[in-house]
Amino acid sequence: MPSACDACGATGAPLAKVSLGRDFFGRTYDRLTPSSDRSPAWYCPRCSDEKRMQSDYRVIKAAAEALAGGGESPLADPGTRDRALERLGGIVARLGSGFEPGQPFAQKLLTPAEAEALLSGLKGAGVGGG
Ligand SMILES: [Zn+2]
Repeated sequence: MPSACDACGATGAPLAKVSLGRDFFGRTYDRLTPSSDRSPAWYCPRCSDEKRMQSDYRVIKAAAEALAGGGESPLADPGTRDRALERLGGIVARLGSGFEPGQPFAQKLLTPAEAEALLSGLKGAGVGGG
């Protein structure tokens, strides 16, 4: 077991291996999982949280790109799209507010700007379209 967090390098915090069993849409991770995620990484509690947000961000982004390209996408379902928008909104708010008071996220895995860009892009998609 490593002694430092793989994302922020913190030592002395209890480290946990983030397991990515299923993605945001309930699918098992396969080719969408970046190869860097296949090797085990250990994260402090704060970065574990950030890592989960990054995972959701990534799968929603891939689905948004598929939707924009006219391909099959879980986001074609309005209910699923609403759920993704809600999750992204939560991610933006949480990244901004921090893990705990006085403990901002390292933002090495995901920045609020990235999450916000995807959120506004997805909000625009499908509006008045068809
Ligand atoms: Zn960390």
